[in-house]
Amino acid sequence: MSEFERISEHIYVMHAERETDRPLLAAVAGSSRTLLIDGGNSSAHAAAFREYLEQEGVRKPDVMVLTHHHWDHSFGVAEWSLPAIAQRQTADILRGFAGLEWNEETLSRLIAEGVVSEQTRNDMRAEYGSNLGLIRVEEPNIVFERFIDVHLGDLTCEIRYVGGDHAADSCVVYVKEEGTLFLGDALAPSVYGGPMKYTTGKFLALLDTVFAYGADVLVESHGRPVSREDFYNDVRRYELLARQVLRHGSDREAVLRDLRADLGMAAEEALPEDLTEAAGYFMNGLVK
Ligand SMILES: [Zn+2]
Repeated sequence: MSEFERISEHIYVMHAERETDRPLLAAVAGSSRTLLIDGGNSSAHAAAFREYLEQEGVRKPDVMVLTHHHWDHSFGVAEWSLPAIAQRQTADILRGFAGLEWNEETLSRLIAEGVVSEQTRNDMRAEYGSNLGLIRVEEPNIVFERFIDVHLGDLTCEIRYVGGDHAADSCVVYVKEEGTLFLGDALAPSVYGGPMKYTTGKFLALLDTVFAYGADVLVESHGRPVSREDFYNDVRRYELLARQVLRHGSDREAVLRDLRADLGMAAEEALPEDLTEAAGYFMNGLVK
């Protein structure tokens, strides 16, 4: 079930949907321009958000930005007919995707190459049914390397390349006047080309970058927008985990023991499942 929300005076979102791997889409409406954040995973996804924006009387998006190249963020781009901003690596990968004929055979090959995963096939089936021929990939046409600012009249959106484990081309978008930081999937583990993993160096560097914004609201593409306090309380646990992995390496028992102590838990208390799972990702990240 699609869910839409105006999360602040200038920001409208279509929330993430798990069944079809649809990420959150956002429109930042300034006094003279509207920026769209991510294109959606299909034309249907893009059209649903566009209809909501029209209903709300929001100024039509003038330009869009992609947080990274993954299909669920980029396969709806063509539907918008908009100038699309992307980091150079994002643009390079999507240029390659745009030249492919999308069908089961292509998908199987990309899975074998570790470009996408078996999960992608399931999610694409949920979104497209059996008709992968509906996929149209468009190459972004405004390419940047490190930073680019987009001025929307009374609002400024600072787009910054951050990289990380999830996708080497990840970017974040900071809506300065609203204190809202869109993280894309930057803080998620890697999902393609082998077991899911986190590397301590990349993860901790990314957290430093994110914390430095001092944002009031943080938005992850597959989660709900959260306050600074809730975000820090949640992410702090992962930070402690990463530091214990730095300290103990692949000694999983020691990592989990000291993490329990860090969190003020008793030795016999079970850690939350998301943390033991993440510990596994960090262990995978130690394997060269
Ligand atoms: Zn992603």
